Amino acid sequence: MFHMTLMRVFEPRPAFSSRGVIAMRHRHVAGLLGRLAIAGFAAFLLSEVQTADAQGIDHPICVRNFNKIPLTDADVDDILSRASAILSEVGTTRLPCQGVKLSRQGNVAPFDESVFPRSLALESEFTKFTGDACVKVVERIIWCGGLVPGALGCAPVPGQGLVVVRRVLGLTDSFNRGVEPVTWLHEFGHTRGLQHNALDSLSVMAPGLGPTNRSINDSECAVLGSAVPAAGAAPLAAAMPMPAGGLIELAQATGVTPQSAEPARMPVEEFVKQTFLHNPPLEKLKQYEGDLPKVQEMLFDPKFAPYRSNIIVLLGAIGNKDTIPLLAKIIDTNISPEKTDVDIGARLAAPLAMGTIANRNNLPEKDISILRSASQQGFWEQRLSLVKAPNPGSKGLDDDDVRALSRDLAIQSTRGYAISGSEEVRSKLQEEHAGTVSAALPEPVRQEQLSILNDALKLNKTSKEMGAYATFSK
Ligand SMILES: [Zn+2]
Repeated sequence: MFHMTLMRVFEPRPAFSSRGVIAMRHRHVAGLLGRLAIAGFAAFLLSEVQTADAQGIDHPICVRNFNKIPLTDADVDDILSRASAILSEVGTTRLPCQGVKLSRQGNVAPFDESVFPRSLALESEFTKFTGDACVKVVERIIWCGGLVPGALGCAPVPGQGLVVVRRVLGLTDSFNRGVEPVTWLHEFGHTRGLQHNALDSLSVMAPGLGPTNRSINDSECAVLGSAVPAAGAAPLAAAMPMPAGGLIELAQATGVTPQSAEPARMPVEEFVKQTFLHNPPLEKLKQYEGDLPKVQEMLFDPKFAPYRSNIIVLLGAIGNKDTIPLLAKIIDTNISPEKTDVDIGARLAAPLAMGTIANRNNLPEKDISILRSASQQGFWEQRLSLVKAPNPGSKGLDDDDVRALSRDLAIQSTRGYAISGSEEVRSKLQEEHAGTVSAALPEPVRQEQLSILNDALKLNKTSKEMGAYATFSK
C-alpha cells in the first residue's frame, strides 16, 4: 500500500495523431520536461555523432525562463542531473538507457515579454513556444491543446520547445522539487515521440506523475536513447497550429491510487487532498456525486483551503444549480494577500467549473452572467487590488504581474462562459465579437481579443454538441 501515498501530477498536452489530427491526451507530467529544450538540430546531430556508440547519448538542453521566475544554471544542472540519474538507474538493467543523459546547453537565457509570452494561455502562444527549441519556463499554463485550470507543463508529441512551470500553486516545495526532474524527463519523452504508459503507474511516462515515478521500459529507453525522435516524426509537426475545440483533457496532479484495477473509492476528504491540478477523469469525479452537499461545505472550510482548486474541479463534475452561487462568490471576492496562491488557483479553476455545471444542467445565461463580467481584464484588476505591491520590490504583485494575471483570468472566464454551450451565451459572444471588430483598439489588442472570442465560439459549439468535458485538455 505504500504507493497509495504517491502524488501524481497530470499535465495536459496535445498529441498529434498519425492522421495529422490533433488528439488531446493527458500529459501527466505537467511540464516536467519543460525546461529541457532540445538545443537545436545541428547541436543535436553533433552530439549524437560524438556519443551515439555504446556509451549512450547526451541530449543537449537549452533553457529559457521568463525573467521574473528565478532559475540559475545551477538549478537547471541540478534538475538535469536528477533526471539523468533516473536514466542511469534504469540503465543498470536496461541497456538502451545506459549512458543516456540530459545536459544543459549554454546558459539559462531569461526572456521578457517582447520575446515570448510569460504564460501559456492561448494556442497561438503554444505555437510561439514550440517554434524555438529551448525549454521555456513560464508563470502559468492554462491552455494545452484544450482547457486546463493550471498545468505543470505542455509539450508537443513529438516536437520541441516544451513549456513548464516551476511551482504548482498549492503544492509543497518538496513535492515541487521532487517532481521537477520527473516532469522534465516525461515531457522530454513526449517531445521524442513517447506516449503515455498507462500500464505502469510508476513509469516516468505514466499519465500521473510524482517524485517516485522512476521506471522506464525497454522501448521507452530505446526512444530516449536515440538521437532521432521516434517513428521518424518531424519535429516541425510541433509548430503546426492545433485545431481549436479538439478533445481535451484536464491534467490531474496527483495520483489517485496506483492505477491498479481496484475501484476502491477513497473518502472525498482524502480525494481532494491529492494535489490534482487539473481534472482527473470524469468517471473518477462522478463517484462523488452523492457527496455534493459535503463538498460544497468543504469549499469554504478553512481546513480545506489548500485544496480549494481541487474541490472546485470536483464541483464542476458533480455540482448543480445550487453550486453556481458558491462559485460566483469565489470569483467575486478579492484575492487576499495572505493566501494569494490558493486564491489564484481557485479563480483559475472556478470559471471552468461553473461553465461545466451550466452545460450539464442546461442553465440559462443569467445564472452565469458573472463570467461575462469576468471576461474583462478590469474585473480582475479590481479584485487583485489588495495584493498589489505598495512599492517596487516589496512583497506582492507589481503592475505588470497584475495585468498579466488579470488577462489570464479574463481568458479563463471567457472560456468558462463559452463552455456552458448555451445558445444565449453564443449570441452574446457574437455581439462581443462584432463590437470588437469595430472598436477603437490598438491592432494587436484587437487581434488577441478576436482570437479569444473565436476560440470561445468554437468551445461553445463543441461543448453544446459533445459536453463541456470535450473541451478540456487531455
Ligand atoms: Zn505526459
